[in-house]
Amino acid sequence: MDGMTEQKTNPHVFVLKDELPNGPGLRAARCRACGRHTQGRVLVCAHCFSDDLEALAAGHSAELIEHSIARVPAGGFDAPYAIGQIRTDEGMILFAPLLGDPQAFGPGKRLRFVQVDHPTGISGFAYELEEDGAPE
Ligand SMILES: [Zn+2]
Repeated sequence: MDGMTEQKTNPHVFVLKDELPNGPGLRAARCRACGRHTQGRVLVCAHCFSDDLEALAAGHSAELIEHSIARVPAGGFDAPYAIGQIRTDEGMILFAPLLGDPQAFGPGKRLRFVQVDHPTGISGFAYELEEDGAPE
């Protein structure tokens, strides 16, 4: 971590490359006691209340639970755009903007985290469809 002035749409939710190990990704903590992840900047594990936590970026891969399509542009996204409730591979559930053709999304679709650099110089994040069955 350094003194760089980062401009982000929501610094509590995600981190850029070099901000945390595994960045860019969602801001999270992994619990050394139970191994589970808690979203955000946290002092104790949401699952077992241990304070033995490691801050890192997570949520690089996720699955779409459901989504809706927004008709009004907002947050640097041109309308129509999709917003989805997603479950990351670590089990964190959140709402996130979806990048790409709004019609292409559906329940169970595999997604990956992408950093979105807006022309204004502000960085945001979104999820896009994983390309054809990325190898493990
Ligand atoms: Zn825990």
